[in-house]
Amino acid sequence: MENCIFCKIINGELPSATVYEDENTLAFRDINPAAPIHVLVIPKQHIISLDDINTENKKTAANCLAAIPEIAKNLGLVGGYRVITNIGKDGGQVVPHLHFHLLGGKKFKEKIV
Ligand code: 5GP
Ligand code: ZN
Repeated sequence: MENCIFCKIINGELPSATVYEDENTLAFRDINPAAPIHVLVIPKQHIISLDDINTENKKTAANCLAAIPEIAKNLGLVGGYRVITNIGKDGGQVVPHLHFHLLGGKKFKEKIV
């Protein structure tokens, strides 16, 4: 997708600190980390958000989600971690390419839910 920064990261037009890659999924460090470890886990296919999951792309999204435990293990997050996805304007989504924030490296005190 043209002008999508995450698609540009996927195709190598923009640099990123990659921590995991398979044929379906890419994970790289967030440029503005909100925790000691903050990684964005994204499908290589351009899907705008969870709101745009359909019968054609749901396997891609599921594979992306399913990669998270291995990524967390590789990052040494043995004590647990947090996964967040923002959806749309009211959800606080800034980049319109589905991404899961994988946050860890500290014990979170603050809770939204
Ligand atoms: P959102 O607010 O859409 O859920 O999250 C977007 C995230 O992407 C933010 O945490 C932001 O720091 C991160 N981000 C935005 N642009 C870039 C970039 O060019 N490279 C990387 N690595 N992260 C980015
Ligand atoms: Zn994209």
